[in-house]
Amino acid sequence: MFAQVIIDQDIKAIDKVFEYSVPENMSVNIGMRVFVPFGKRILQGFVIGLNKNCNYQENKVKPIYSVVEDFSAIKEEMLAIMKFMVEKNHLTMASVLRLFIPSQMREGKVREIFETFYLLADKNYTPQLNAKKQIALIEKLKLSGKCSSSVLGEEFGYSTIKTLYDKGVLEKEKIQIERKPFVVEQIDNKVKLNQMQINAIQTIKDDKTYLLHGVTGSGKTEVYMNLIERELSKGKNAIMLVPEISLTPQIMSNFKARFGDFVAVLHSGLSAGEKFDEWKRIFLGKARIVIGARSAIFAPIENLGIIIIDEEHEQSYISESNPRYNTHDIAKFRAKYNCCPLLLGSATPSVETYQKAVDGEYQLVELPTRANGKELPSIQIVDMLGEIRTGNSSIFSNQLVADLANVINNKKQAMIFINRRGYSSFMRCRDCGYVAQCSDCDVSLVYHREDNRLKCHYCGKQYKVLTKCPKCHSDNIKYGAVGTEQVVAKLKELFPDVKVLRMDNDTTSTKNAHQKILSEFKNSLPSILVGTQMIAKGHDFENVTLVGIVDADQSLFQADYRSTERTFQLITQVSGRAGRSKDEGKVVLQTYAPRHYVYKFASNYDYKGFFRKEANIRKTAEFPPFSRIIRILFSDINENYAREMLKLCYTEIEKLKETYSNEILYLDAMKSPLKRLQNKYRYQIIIRLKLDKADEIEKQVFDIANGISKNNVFIEINPSNMA
Ligand code: ADP
Ligand code: ZN
Ligand code: ZN
Repeated sequence: MFAQVIIDQDIKAIDKVFEYSVPENMSVNIGMRVFVPFGKRILQGFVIGLNKNCNYQENKVKPIYSVVEDFSAIKEEMLAIMKFMVEKNHLTMASVLRLFIPSQMREGKVREIFETFYLLADKNYTPQLNAKKQIALIEKLKLSGKCSSSVLGEEFGYSTIKTLYDKGVLEKEKIQIERKPFVVEQIDNKVKLNQMQINAIQTIKDDKTYLLHGVTGSGKTEVYMNLIERELSKGKNAIMLVPEISLTPQIMSNFKARFGDFVAVLHSGLSAGEKFDEWKRIFLGKARIVIGARSAIFAPIENLGIIIIDEEHEQSYISESNPRYNTHDIAKFRAKYNCCPLLLGSATPSVETYQKAVDGEYQLVELPTRANGKELPSIQIVDMLGEIRTGNSSIFSNQLVADLANVINNKKQAMIFINRRGYSSFMRCRDCGYVAQCSDCDVSLVYHREDNRLKCHYCGKQYKVLTKCPKCHSDNIKYGAVGTEQVVAKLKELFPDVKVLRMDNDTTSTKNAHQKILSEFKNSLPSILVGTQMIAKGHDFENVTLVGIVDADQSLFQADYRSTERTFQLITQVSGRAGRSKDEGKVVLQTYAPRHYVYKFASNYDYKGFFRKEANIRKTAEFPPFSRIIRILFSDINENYAREMLKLCYTEIEKLKETYSNEILYLDAMKSPLKRLQNKYRYQIIIRLKLDKADEIEKQVFDIANGISKNNVFIEINPSNMA
């Protein structure tokens, strides 16, 4: 027997199939990990195929050294996914296979945890009458058979256990246990479904892609849970993906309460050991529902009955670093492989996804109202330029301060949302609201501190920093965003007696910090929670009656063709935090561009209106989803080398124009806006393609670029970050 083996090294040059012979007495199956001699070393590899005959020269083939573990860690479906991803995203096979198993296993340092259990030995013993603890312990074991050391110790004291053990009354047993990353109280959280939810559940059943478009609070989670329940009852399993920041204790306990130990949760907060334990429970079929962030799509779960992607529009579903992939693609692949529905859910679907629903590629299912019948909170737009004109140049408008005072008087809660994205920032005239834009592209310029220039991330054009506004000639031009600390300080000044909490990257770096801040907020009335994107979703606080959005424009003027869409999503998301219970909610949205169409549609919760407008603009400007953008990035510590690679690549791609003069809308080569990163010089080619022959051209572009460099090239499709 001969095995086809991929060496577990992420190096393009050796990323191919090597053949080894299987020794007589060794049992090797497809998907197993093995140790093989490679050159002078012994390396780990994955068996991806077995055949009777040797494809290579039989006398040169070496035998497999040993197996890493005696089961197939990579299941057949995962091998199919690997082939799909390698083909689609031009990745190395080894880098993809690594996604499928926990890091602890690859590093070979899996630590199983054992716990000591005690049981009664076969010995007659009567404790003295006053040894009450001893008597009670023995009684307990008579009833329960065996009990863990920690439980007995808690109840009767460790010295009692020791005494009895030393006398030979107790016997010890070591049992392997799973680390339980999450403990919850069981709560009965079933609700009676409304007719819309029932319709949705009945519709979502075939092996195709559905888009569940439901306003915030429409009860999508309830639909997910019922669909999962239905599939479980058919003996099938489920995956549900949520963005990392939505994996709140609230969501997890809801699912654990409904499904108990059938649920496995995978997220970045788990220790390597906990991840391994969850992986193993899934692998062995003990867990039948996987809930997790992006990478949970690679969970080794079989017999899928449904795959759900909640908040499908979230950018975090795209892995932008190697191995890069789009979670939607892999979910589609797995749904097809398992002949099951794929459900995408959102209150604000991405323009790309909604367009697919319009085109009939996805089936649209709608939940247009909140499940509890409450109205969505009203959104008031406040013109910050008007505030400046009337002499208020503080971060808060008079309206927001008045509404905050109101909340405090009524002993309620407010959330203040600071919109922050990325490290870049735009320049804005504080008198007329003008924002510097590229004269060739429809995107905002980004201020680069290191060389004090404004840059277009799409065409590379550079501009001098503005000192005077070209529109109103004011010199009151500023860049930079308001920070959370600044806001907190201002609030403390305005309302010295009120509890103000802050939630951002700085305050949540330690384990459980999230939970602490949220529970402190929950338990203080009145109180104000200030935060970034982290507070935008998932949270369900019944006393929040006001949401303030301090600088809504921060996500609007980004050098990204999706920035308007992102802004709409954010506003809808944060607004959904207010007035979820008895009390009516209100949103105050502060902007310097009050007439921008995104605010008009967002403040009316008019997703469809927004979609039509936005899709129209993209169609006219020929931006995705009506075209495809490819960015090829070359980087190297040697600038000349990076530039040479770029030139070579550009010359080759330019030749494609002869065949595809109509389909190539835009092609240019340039220094990257961020010209040096981690000591490497960066040069890039941007291509924009019409959709009709995009696949065909993309393939050739990939071949050209990969032919020029194996390790210094990075290719992205419709990237959101062009720096
Ligand atoms: P979404 O995910 O669509 O934003 P959720 O699933 O979080 O909405 O639901 C919002 C709230 O409505 C939750 O508190 C949920 O328990 C409640 N809910 C869901 N379905 C119903 C229903 N049929 N009747 C009453 N309340 C419901
Ligand atoms: Zn101006
Ligand atoms: Zn430009």
